[in-house]
Amino acid sequence: MTDLAGRTALVTGSVQGIGLAVAEALAGAGARVAVHGLAAPGQAEEVCAGLGELGSPEAVFFPADLRDPEAISSMMAALEAWGGVDVLVNNAGIQHTAPLAEMPRETWDAILAVNLSAAFETMRLALPSMAARGFGRVINIASVHGLVASKDKAPYVAAKFGLVGLSRVAALEYATAGTKASGGVTANCICPGWTETSIIAPQVAARAAMFGGDRDKGIADLLAEKQPSQRTSDPGEIGALALWLCSPLAHNVTGAAIPVDGGWTAQ
Ligand code: NAD
Repeated sequence: MTDLAGRTALVTGSVQGIGLAVAEALAGAGARVAVHGLAAPGQAEEVCAGLGELGSPEAVFFPADLRDPEAISSMMAALEAWGGVDVLVNNAGIQHTAPLAEMPRETWDAILAVNLSAAFETMRLALPSMAARGFGRVINIASVHGLVASKDKAPYVAAKFGLVGLSRVAALEYATAGTKASGGVTANCICPGWTETSIIAPQVAARAAMFGGDRDKGIADLLAEKQPSQRTSDPGEIGALALWLCSPLAHNVTGAAIPVDGGWTAQ
């Protein structure tokens, strides 16, 4: 079992979805958790209380709109004062589907900012302290779309391919940091396929509309197109993998982009 007692984790976008599941897995292993995201009133407090019940000694909400690099810098400074980040999970992400020629410039800018540039900011600010401590984990939630493309997702695919590349650069630059005993500093991506969260709701609704609004048939049709297992993933499965990557056993797993995609990218 991975023991994260004494470790501090920042999970961006952890007020819901995959980020919340990752935060729950890390909390269950005893990590202090910096919760983050665009939260509805009361949502952050509820999430922090839930993480406490799961075993986190301290769970605190740190706000920052990831489209704003200054806000990210302020958040990272506040986190340094809170004790520094041992586990950095860049999870927050947004999606918009449209053909490339019809994709609004503002949408391109927003997706690149949240899904890619924000990870550059958090990583450049967190990695030096990780190296100094001899332990650190960067876990970037990319996507199958960091490994293969789909039509109508130009900014999302560009950002996720970029995130895989960025993670590999960090893996190389920090490969010698720390020791086997201290756990080293690693940087990896998890690349989910269809996972049951709200980010896929517009795509599911559009596909369900082709089947008279039948959600199950819409999901089955999306899966049939790309995901050979014909099964969606649950967010907790991504959380479990993120937790394993935090183990000292995973000190030599770095620069990887690990698909959780039912065989999507094996085709
Ligand atoms: P979600 O919509 O439930 O969660 C997205 C999170 O990002 C939210 O917590 C939100 O608050 C945060 N966020 C969005 N914009 C932000 C901003 N400007 N500033 C701060 N926070 C912001 O979706 P999810 O599925 O949980 O997505 C998590 C990650 O998983 C994303 O990076 C997504 O691309 C990736 N992913 C999801 C799937 C899937 O099928 N669900 C598949 C592959 C990859």
